[in-house]
Amino acid sequence: MTPEPHVPSYYAASIAAAAERPALGGDVRADVCVVGAGFTGLSAALELAERGYRVVVLEAERVAWGASGRNGGQIGSGYPSSMARLSRWVGRDDARRLFDLAEAAKALIRTRVERHDIDCELKPGNFQAALKPRHMEEIKATREFWSDTFGYQGLVLAESGAAALAYVNSPRYIGGLYDPGVGHLHPLKYALGLAAAAEAAGASLYEGSPVTALQGLGAGAGQVTAETPGGRVVADHLILCGNAYLGDLVPQIRRLYVPVGSYIVATEPLGEDRAAQVIPADCAVFDSNHILNYYRLSADRRLLFGGRSGTSPFREPDPKGFLGARIRVLFPQIADTSIDYAWGGTLAMTASRMPQVGRLGSRVTFAQGYSGEGVAMSGLVGQVLAEAVAGQMARFDLFDRLPHRAFPGGRMLQKPALALGLLWYSLCDLVP
Ligand SMILES: Cc1cc2nc3c(=O)[nH]c(=O)nc-3n(C[C@H](O)[C@H](O)[C@H](O)COP(=O)(O)OP(=O)(O)OC[C@H]3O[C@@H](n4cnc5c(N)ncnc54)[C@H](O)[C@@H]3O)c2cc1C
Repeated sequence: MTPEPHVPSYYAASIAAAAERPALGGDVRADVCVVGAGFTGLSAALELAERGYRVVVLEAERVAWGASGRNGGQIGSGYPSSMARLSRWVGRDDARRLFDLAEAAKALIRTRVERHDIDCELKPGNFQAALKPRHMEEIKATREFWSDTFGYQGLVLAESGAAALAYVNSPRYIGGLYDPGVGHLHPLKYALGLAAAAEAAGASLYEGSPVTALQGLGAGAGQVTAETPGGRVVADHLILCGNAYLGDLVPQIRRLYVPVGSYIVATEPLGEDRAAQVIPADCAVFDSNHILNYYRLSADRRLLFGGRSGTSPFREPDPKGFLGARIRVLFPQIADTSIDYAWGGTLAMTASRMPQVGRLGSRVTFAQGYSGEGVAMSGLVGQVLAEAVAGQMARFDLFDRLPHRAFPGGRMLQKPALALGLLWYSLCDLVP
């Protein structure tokens, strides 16, 4: 099958032509078959190949065609769920362990970038911007809780709009929190680097190879078979990493998340001076709204600005329109700038806003639902899935202990429920 090209994003336009991989043809035997070549699948494949397993990765389109090749490139600390809420939910000990895993996820990116010499424009720092006093209270509480409970030091509080200007130059913010322990990168370059590293370690990657049927998902099955239009892989283990793009291939995991669209625009290059007038600290930025904006500068000094609209998920939004308008409000100093690229992608949102890592039968594992914060976590989770294949269960079990709750109302009501949820959160964001 001819794969679909990468979505026409700034990222796709700023890479050297990506190596093409063949489609699967005929029968192939493997120790482990990985479905999906995003960060999760590539990370699992790299770790397994380094451990000496025969790994086959089946990707429906191109490597990193899904969220991994299109996202905001922001590496965050912690999880989308607040750590205080998580502590109340799972207890302090497991919350501490989960926090440590999130720290390990950040470190893993740095290690892999260095070890595999991946040129992905990795830079330090992010800034959480506050738009209203309520946000400042939340930010201060987070800083205190992280410091007291997890010993996470180094967060710098910008207590006023004037202090925030050193990080991001918008008249709209009243303060914020700078985290030097995180950063941002070019996600497509990073994913392609992971793919090359996995291949160098011995993994076989196939593109244009959508898995259309699976056999052997049952508890006692001896082997698992993944079928594509051109062939099939028979493996001892199967790892499902299709995330929001897996669709209905495995209905029992599809009902556990809601697919949510997010959109990004890239301005024309601003030049060094104007870029420094927008984000002087050259860090990643996100605001504290529920329906938030996230942005950063590219290596060639464009503003990459993302978010979603609060309008109905039934209608395809116009990112140039609603994100362009938001840029003009936040940054009047570049109001005349033009937008060169606009694109969107789908992420998997879970009810708990925690990733879902679990098992289907004895030979099949899955991971999905990073709820908009998967750049770092998906890499760690891929490694954890590889550990599970090797029988090392401690980190896998920690995630697996989190209950996987389906969204109330089931599949039929997901779109209307999402529309209502977006409306609710848009209203909350309007409250001072
Ligand atoms: C617009 C946008 C912005 C985001 N910004 C950020 C951010 O700034 N920071 C952050 O931390 N997170 C962000 N995220 C989330 C982050 O990108 C994801 O959590 C992460 O990339 C998930 O990686 P993954 O490998 O699990 O899934 P994906 O990258 O979606 O990969 C899944 C792959 O599986 C393939 N696939 C699906 N079904 C099959 C099949 N049947 N057979 C074969 N292959 C199949 C797909 O083609 C796809 O390539 C963003 C997401 C989006 C959409």
